[in-house]
Amino acid sequence: MTRLDPSNLSRRSFLAVAGSAAAVAFAPRFLFAQKKGIVPTMIDDAAKATIKTYPLRRNISVLEGSGGNIGVLSGKEGKLLVDSGFTVSKARILQALNSLNSDPIAQLLNTHWHTDHTDGNAWIHAEGAKITAHVNTRKHLSTSTRVEGWDWTFPPAPLGAIPTVVFNDEHRLQHNNTNVRLQYYGPAHTDSDVCVVFEEADIIHVGDTWWNGIYPFIDYSTGGSIDGMIHATEQNLRVITDKMTVIPGHGPIGDKAGLTEFGEMLVAIRNQVATLKKQGKSLSETIASKPTAAYDAKYGHFLITPGFFTTLVYSGV
Ligand SMILES: [Zn+2]
Repeated sequence: MTRLDPSNLSRRSFLAVAGSAAAVAFAPRFLFAQKKGIVPTMIDDAAKATIKTYPLRRNISVLEGSGGNIGVLSGKEGKLLVDSGFTVSKARILQALNSLNSDPIAQLLNTHWHTDHTDGNAWIHAEGAKITAHVNTRKHLSTSTRVEGWDWTFPPAPLGAIPTVVFNDEHRLQHNNTNVRLQYYGPAHTDSDVCVVFEEADIIHVGDTWWNGIYPFIDYSTGGSIDGMIHATEQNLRVITDKMTVIPGHGPIGDKAGLTEFGEMLVAIRNQVATLKKQGKSLSETIASKPTAAYDAKYGHFLITPGFFTTLVYSGV
């Protein structure tokens, strides 16, 4: 099975950021209050990272290395991309796309509004892509938007980066002889998350509702919550079959079994943290009780440390 390389460059600098985050996790305002915050760290990583290409089924591939995983559907009508990574990776993303084939870029779908999935929107639009997303992705990209958990305020995106086709619940299109379905989750990781299903290929891109093998970030500032994440996972598990290939927002390409484990982890930690909070424990006491301990070896080694994930869950229970 195709696997994304788990030992990419970005991990080391994410760890450097996340390590200091854990130490001050009881003071969320200063989670990333070191010299270089998490957003500049993500951009610097994308500027250095190699873009790796993973062919899946039919004419669908994944590019990894610039922010979130980028899905690519190739064909005569031009490439359809799912998410756009960071602009600093433009040259290497273009090179990876051109090594697949010479099809131009025709369409871009955004799984949600976050910068590691939309920063490249403007240049991909300039290459000829029409941009489609949930109505809340357009809303957040059109205005100044703060993400408290990243200690970062994003200015409005340039006009070319703004999706021009938006929808509320479901959107379907036909591209390169493929039926593509986008479905809104409701509030989950943000309030703008959609999945993208390539029906004939049996492939689904679930955006940041799944971080495969790593604790997820949850953006409470724009409508995300732990319960929303759990609800989105339940929705994923209802539509995903054992045969489907699942592209997560971050982490290696996976399947239903991996997503099932992720969902069990979310529920177990949510319940542990809720119990501690009900007992009157403060956030720092809750972190000290290590409610994530059983899962840290598997999920706690990346961007979101055990202490930071506990902080995110504590905010929502
Ligand atoms: Zn995200």
